[in-house]
Parts: sequence; structure tokens; C-alpha cells
Amino acid sequence: MSQPFKLFRLQQIDNQLDQMHARLREIAVLLQDDASLKSTKDETQKAEHQLTDMRKALRRAEDELQTLRIKIEQTESTLYGGKVRNPKELQDLQNEAIALKKYRSILEDRLLEAMLSEEEAAAEYNQALTRLEIEQARYNGFQIALHDEQAKINKDMVNSEEEKRVTANGIPIEDLNLYNQLRSTRRGIAVAKVSNKACSACGTTLNAALLDAARSPNQLTRCDNCGRILYVV
Ligand SMILES: [Zn+2]
Repeated sequence: MSQPFKLFRLQQIDNQLDQMHARLREIAVLLQDDASLKSTKDETQKAEHQLTDMRKALRRAEDELQTLRIKIEQTESTLYGGKVRNPKELQDLQNEAIALKKYRSILEDRLLEAMLSEEEAAAEYNQALTRLEIEQARYNGFQIALHDEQAKINKDMVNSEEEKRVTANGIPIEDLNLYNQLRSTRRGIAVAKVSNKACSACGTTLNAALLDAARSPNQLTRCDNCGRILYVV
């Protein structure tokens, strides 16, 4: 293995390691993200509260109507019971019975409305529960997939680190230092392939002497424009 090739291989491994580190950071963020699940839970809770309110309103409407019905019965039993004889008093009772019955029809309408609202709220709550179930399953599945991916990357990283160690073995320390310095200042590309007699990183055409030097397996040759280490395939 020529020195430029070793460094080129090292660069491939380092790029893979960078990608793995970046993906691990993304996964850490994604694992924390439960916004969608939270908002679905909030919606379900809202729908549940709404249903509770509607049920209370329905019970109130039923109670009110029941109370009124008893009042009407009492008024009519007094009216027709024969104990009240005074015509003025009888007239008043009759008027009261008419007024109460009018109000009864209003309360019956209200009860009907309350029943419809309660039915609607119950349907909405059921739909929210279904949505929550789906969202929870999606969330759980995604978490499992992310953990699996995390475990696989961690395993791959151990292998890559080992491969890196083996590849770097035997490279002179000053060459490694140059490689690391170029990598950090040249957007991750320290070693550039030569293709069509040009540096593939910056595009500069290389003269014959530089091309010859770049073919040497034991020394490092650098592009005279961008300074990267040249590697001839
Ligand atoms: Zn170059």
C-alpha cells in the first residue's frame, strides 16, 4: 500500500466516522422529539373534557325538565282537585299551568340539543382516541427504529475505529499531522485523487514533474494550487 493510498483510505474511514457521528447527533435529537405525540395527547384530553362538560349539561337539562314536570303535575292536581273554588284563584292556576307547559316545550328543545351535543362530543372523543392510538404506535415504532439504528452505528464505529488504527499504523507521524491539519482546514478533503492529470479537489491541471512525483509510493506530493496531498489511482 503506497503512503498516499493509505492516507486516502484513512480519509474514507474518517469521512464515514464523521457521518456516523453526525447521524448519532440527529438520532439523539429525534429521540427527544415527542411534540407530535404530546399534541395528540392534548387534543384527546381536550375532547375528553368537552365530553365531560356535555354530559354534565345533559344531566342538568334532564333534571330541570323533571323538576318542571313535577311542578306541572302539582299545579294541575290543585287546579282539578276541587279544593280551590275561588274563580280568580282558579284562573290564576290555569294561567300558571299554561305558562309552565310553554316553558316545558322550551326545556324539551334544550334537552334535545344537549343530547345531540353529547352525542357529537362522544364521537369526537372516540375519533381522538383512535388518532392517539395510531400516533402512539407510530411513535413507539420510530423510537425502536432509532434505537436499533443507534446500536448499529455504535457497532460500526468500533469496527471503523479499529480499521482506522490498522490503516494509520506505519504512517509517519509528520504525515499524519499534515493529513489532519489539511482535513480540518480543507473541508474534510486532505487527499485528492488525480484524474485526467488534474487535482480532483480544486481542478488545477498538474505539470508533468508533479504528476511523476505523485506516482511515487513512498513520498507525499501536494497540489501546487490547493496544497492537498495527491493520490494517483
Ligand atoms: Zn488541488
